[in-house]
Amino acid sequence: MAKIGINIATGSLQKQEMIVGIDLGTTNSLVAIIHPDTKQPVALKEFDGLSLVPSIIHFDTSGQITVGDDARKYLLKEPHNTIFSIKRLMGKSYRDVQNQSSFFSYKIIDDNTEGLVKIMVGDKFYSPVELSSYILKELKTRAEHILKTPVTKAVITVPAYFNDAQRQATRDAGKLAGLDVLRIINEPTAASLAYGMGLKKEETKTIAVYDLGGGTFDISVLRITGGIFEVLSTNGDTYLGGDDFDRQILIHWCKELGITEDELANHKALAQELRLVAEEAKKVLSTSDEFIGSVAEQEVKLTKARFEDMIRPLVQRTIDSCRNALQDAELSIREIDEVVMVGGSTRVPLVKESVSRFFNKQVHDSLDPDEVVALGAAVQADILAGNNKDFLLLDITPLSLGIETMGGLMDVLIPRNSKIPSKAGRQYTTQKDGQGSMRISVYQGERDLVKDNRKLAEFNLTGIPGMPAGLPKVEVSFLVNADGILVVKAKEIRSGVEQSIEVKPQYGLTDTEVERLLMDSITHAKEDMMTRALVEAQTEGQQLLEVTSQFILKNPGFLTLAEQNETEHAIKALREVMDTGTKDEIQAAIEKLNEVSRPYAERLMDKSVQSALKNTKIK
Ligand code: AMP
Repeated sequence: MAKIGINIATGSLQKQEMIVGIDLGTTNSLVAIIHPDTKQPVALKEFDGLSLVPSIIHFDTSGQITVGDDARKYLLKEPHNTIFSIKRLMGKSYRDVQNQSSFFSYKIIDDNTEGLVKIMVGDKFYSPVELSSYILKELKTRAEHILKTPVTKAVITVPAYFNDAQRQATRDAGKLAGLDVLRIINEPTAASLAYGMGLKKEETKTIAVYDLGGGTFDISVLRITGGIFEVLSTNGDTYLGGDDFDRQILIHWCKELGITEDELANHKALAQELRLVAEEAKKVLSTSDEFIGSVAEQEVKLTKARFEDMIRPLVQRTIDSCRNALQDAELSIREIDEVVMVGGSTRVPLVKESVSRFFNKQVHDSLDPDEVVALGAAVQADILAGNNKDFLLLDITPLSLGIETMGGLMDVLIPRNSKIPSKAGRQYTTQKDGQGSMRISVYQGERDLVKDNRKLAEFNLTGIPGMPAGLPKVEVSFLVNADGILVVKAKEIRSGVEQSIEVKPQYGLTDTEVERLLMDSITHAKEDMMTRALVEAQTEGQQLLEVTSQFILKNPGFLTLAEQNETEHAIKALREVMDTGTKDEIQAAIEKLNEVSRPYAERLMDKSVQSALKNTKIK
């Protein structure tokens, strides 16, 4: 088994090689390293002294991509081509985000499935993974420019509440950007590491990490025991942050200046100016008692006391979340040893005071709250590079473990560099009606297609009772035990039939082979991603064709003649591109068929809801 701190199983990691820490944020992203001379974490800064890169992507009409400040200029001017907050969509399906769709000004495709969301820009479809990879690529390029050395390895942070799909999406984005992602770590863990917490073997501590950014608020309660971080609870509000403080100021000034809501809605430039001056006022009030400025050539003023009155209810909401997080972790305030502040909005004195008062202790705020997460990622990177000798050595899995799914795709259950023992499970279903068995093929490796990975084992789960496709629930679980043995178990939940197998993934695996598998996955990342996207589009198209044909068969006479014609047309068009078309062509044909079928699918839904209502007995 490989050891963290030695050579990540490849034997190739050189001491001089820089592993960077990346904070891939909702609004801003940045890169940090351990300074080779001072051995302290530092954020990489541009010549203008700025370390933050806005997480914004702009596409021009020729498909040219810009990221960062240059893209930000287009947020208001070209909302359809300018992508922001992509992190909110990572690993999400349309169903997950449909209630928030008014927040996004770009087009998110409603494909009416549980599949992952796609974003449409011009006539192209992009996944959040692809879009995030553009941000990571930009960070990589900038870092290489500043460091004057290639950057190929990284630790990337994610929120503590990110699920497996969201973590995997972040890993994939890194890979696509040409980065070998050594580890995905939780943002609150990184922030604690930046303050040196968790670096001593015998230390046991309970930490609250309060993270108030521009648009989101997170509170996480962590426990460190012997260098291992465990998330005890998380809480927060995905739509609460410094932007809301700005809005309070804006509303206040609008009242004072007699600007109505309609005027504001119709004067984009005025609204933008107000927003910018409001943010400036807020920042000034973090260090002064009064702000005086001007908007549309009229003087505007604000005192710190008045500002604090405005935002008090919002700050109180964050404190309520802290209380809930403690309750969920079954801890009292006295049991919290340290409080760490993260995010630009924790610079507001009222925020700091309120948090300090609630936890009844001084908070850690000496590091730049915008940089602290990236700094901690750099600390973790340094540990993985083997430079921190004091750190606990742990057993890990050197390559990802997963199974083959439709179209020969690799579905990772246990990502590489996971600590062992490690456990993971996922549910799958059948493709065909009456399918009595399911083949489980277990693979090891980092490529998207199983044919490029290393096959470990294969078995058949038999005895699945006849059911329509999609109904059986087969739970596949992976367990890598402390001896490095992988136990794969498959169980059909409804009938209880189960089967399992044991393999030793490291058996016969040489360091050279691990290295080759890793390098291949980086060099082929782009083509792998394109193949995956194509296979997924084909699978989705196939399913849609089946569902639509079944629907028409089962509901004769439900469609108008026009609908019938349109549907047949759309089905034909989709069939035509299925085998030979690009993923964008298939996706466009899927979108068209969805559009055509939506009205009658909704009609049917209404009908069934109405009949369901009729059946409900009211006393
Ligand atoms: P983040 O999402 O962590 O980058 O935080 C960005 C938020 O921090 C924005 O709402 C900024 O307006 C806010 N912010 C940055 N600097 C200050 C400051 N000096 N005082 C108050 N808020 C700030």
